[in-house]
Amino acid sequence: MSGLLRGKSILITGAASGIGLSTARLAAREGAKVALCDRDEEQGEAAVGAIVADGGKALFLRMDVTSEAQVSAGVDACVGAFGRLDGAFNNAGISADPSGQTVRAADIPFDAWQQVLAVNLTGVWLCMRHEIRQMLAAGRSGGGAIVNNASIAGIVGLRGHAAYAASKHGVVGLTRSAAGDYAGQGLRFNAICPGFVDTPLTAQAFDRAGPKILAGVPLRRLGTPQEIAEAVVWLLSDRSSFVTGATIAADGGYTAL
Ligand code: NAD
Repeated sequence: MSGLLRGKSILITGAASGIGLSTARLAAREGAKVALCDRDEEQGEAAVGAIVADGGKALFLRMDVTSEAQVSAGVDACVGAFGRLDGAFNNAGISADPSGQTVRAADIPFDAWQQVLAVNLTGVWLCMRHEIRQMLAAGRSGGGAIVNNASIAGIVGLRGHAAYAASKHGVVGLTRSAAGDYAGQGLRFNAICPGFVDTPLTAQAFDRAGPKILAGVPLRRLGTPQEIAEAVVWLLSDRSSFVTGATIAADGGYTAL
């Protein structure tokens, strides 16, 4: 442990699984107090138990990011427990179809469109809204750092996944704009754009089309959630103090070519 986040209070959404869970573990190992927020209470509580057993400081907050009341209550509860909010990783997200089926843009069911946008884009905005208010209210000169989880689908299109790509391009635009809005108050905002990472979100798509997916990845492998967590923890830390409004790909080279 290098103590990259020592003393910081960090909130992470979608923290019960995959990239959010790995980031919560790493943040705790790097000295942060971590609020793990998720709609999945059972997995979230289990994750907190493991972090605490490992010597970390963590708590679970049940939160559906599509509910402003739950987001507001969760941010308040985090500050109530830890005394402040130094950083947040807005990571909760879904794919339109967990089975990885592709569908052309005009054929996306209206419900699926609305659900993906509600979780992946509006959910990120709702979290930012309350995190920013909290950070500004604290009036600290040290500012705060917010990292939003976009995707390679926030940089390039993804054939057959237009709703997901639209939501993730939205996250990139939201992140860049907020970086301008609050630069004067010392708040930093960055978007991480993972490529194909080995998590439950991608498992079925990878089973269905693994070789085709890897053919587009110069490193010819999936990323691990830990590899994304390393970048996120750095973005949350003071070591990235001159980085704001950035869109950082961690994608095995997918968007480079
Ligand atoms: P995952 O399914 O392992 O984890 C997602 C977590 O978010 C789950 O714990 C789930 O319960 C939670 N969640 C979903 N909807 C929620 C809601 N409304 N409110 C609160 N929590 C909710 O998935 P993952 O692969 O770790 O994905 C995390 C993020 O990374 C997503 O935003 C995803 O779009 C993004 N991403 C993933 C990949 C990949 O290849 N896995 C690539 C690029 C971007």
